[in-house]
Amino acid sequence: TAGTAHVGTTVGTADAAATDAAPLLSVRHLRKSYGSHEVLKDISFDVMPGEVVVLVGPSGSGKSTLIRCLNGLEDIQDGEISFNGRPVSRNSEKAWRKLRTRIGMVFQSYDLFPNLSVAKNIELGPTAVQKRAKAEVDEQMDRLLADVQLSQYKDSYPRELSGGQKQRIAIVRALAMNPELMLFDEVTASLDPEMVREVLELMLRLAKRRMTMIVVTHEMEFARRVADTVMFLEDGVILERQPGGDFFSSPQTDRAKRFLESMS
Ligand code: ADP
Ligand code: MG
Repeated sequence: TAGTAHVGTTVGTADAAATDAAPLLSVRHLRKSYGSHEVLKDISFDVMPGEVVVLVGPSGSGKSTLIRCLNGLEDIQDGEISFNGRPVSRNSEKAWRKLRTRIGMVFQSYDLFPNLSVAKNIELGPTAVQKRAKAEVDEQMDRLLADVQLSQYKDSYPRELSGGQKQRIAIVRALAMNPELMLFDEVTASLDPEMVREVLELMLRLAKRRMTMIVVTHEMEFARRVADTVMFLEDGVILERQPGGDFFSSPQTDRAKRFLESMS
């Protein structure tokens, strides 16, 4: 159950109902293979509205594959993924295309369109996909850019930005779609150390505002600060699922203990 979830007071209808809140995301018995190689083996978990789930595990354990499955970017062999209590038709590109407008995703590589200005990168989804009025989108964009202190780069092109600035724009671009869920896959992994902090701080602010997020990261100090829940993935299996503080202070499996030691 979701007994470990930290449900924010800004989401849901009433505080009293918060502990009974329904999951935003439910995954049941998910299996994913590449050919005969089973990469995700019977994965089940819930994410509550406002919950921050940090997904950790060794390289090759299946973290990126899981994130991609949650966004319908990979077909799956078995199991069920539900949003707001509604199952998504398995491997239905149409169903996922619709849902994807409500799920923001940011990857390790900067996936900004290189031939579009920062403003055009941000406006494109909300205007072309969500069909929202440009004036309203621009107003939101201005607020988001001010919030990350990048307003002066509105008319710049991605190549003119640092890696850290590009990743913050990528996050802003995802936020401009008003997502219900944000997926982050090692968004600081290719950044120079001095740029990591500015990106992590933005993610910490989102977490404080109770944005529902699933975060894959190797930044353990950040993970400790941000995680309501930690899921430790090993060889396609969720070996541990614990409140963040408990995972870092008392991992339950030897495997997780060794993983944490290797990260410190
Ligand atoms: P992580 O993100 O935890 O490092 P991945 O999800 O990238 O792990 O990979 C999990 C396993 O799936 C690895 O064994 C990897 O080689 C394999 N894998 C990932 N993507 C593909 C693919 N497109 N085709 C075949 N195997 C893949
Ligand atoms: Mg990965």
